[in-house]
Amino acid sequence: LIELRGVNKHFGALHVLRDIELTVGRGEVVVVIGPSGGGKSTLIRTINRLETVQSGSIVVDGRPLPEEGKELARLRAEVGMVFQSFNLFAHRTVLANVMLGQTKVRRRAKQDAERRARELLDRVGLADQAEKFPAQLSGGQQQRVAIARALAMDPQVMLFDEPTSALDPEMINEVLEVMRQLAQEGMTMVVVTHEMGFARSAANRLVFMADGAIVEDRTPEEFFRAPESARARDFLSKIL
Ligand code: ATP
Ligand code: MG
Repeated sequence: LIELRGVNKHFGALHVLRDIELTVGRGEVVVVIGPSGGGKSTLIRTINRLETVQSGSIVVDGRPLPEEGKELARLRAEVGMVFQSFNLFAHRTVLANVMLGQTKVRRRAKQDAERRARELLDRVGLADQAEKFPAQLSGGQQQRVAIARALAMDPQVMLFDEPTSALDPEMINEVLEVMRQLAQEGMTMVVVTHEMGFARSAANRLVFMADGAIVEDRTPEEFFRAPESARARDFLSKIL
């Protein structure tokens, strides 16, 4: 579903992605971990061209990712993205937040968009919060709204960049639970996270990134049992 071949990216003199080779098949859940500044966010942002790259190819759903224009907008709609900061529209209700992309990008009728939005809010456990404004919700609830909003576009793949890092500890699990559920339902996911419990229980593959390169790409069981690289062993010794 996603194929990155020989992808390189520089920010000025800084080489932030080095010869990245990554394939994500349909229904796969890939967790990306690694030290700060290693290029994790940049990597997943290249998947829907929030970042441009200097060389290499990025193919999503069998098509090369275009630079711009209508085709890019179409492909972006297939890739849902959830960030550390929830980025909800503050002056719109929860329900309106989940409807907006559907009516604007997917051009759904209002009624259909509302039905779908309520269905998804129910799925993330927020059916009773639809008429509230984002500021009236907890961080964990806001992040679940952000997930519902991304799902409302019926994406083929969901990208998550540290979705629980900004949350108080007691709210982390409610968000991870929604993500686990999604994974079980067969959603294709690429998740940058420091939640090793999630990586162990939900990921098919674990990608360890450092200094802009993919250092290891293995099953979580193999990785946690015996990381091959010194970089990964060092990283694990600091976080576990
Ligand atoms: P973290 O765990 O802290 O989120 P990360 O692995 O997500 O780190 P990136 O955010 O992808 O790392 O950053 C990789 C490198 O690229 C870092 O050295 C960072 O400073 C640099 N970088 C990221 N965005 C930009 C930018 N817009 N301009 C210049 N340099 C950038
Ligand atoms: Mg990051």
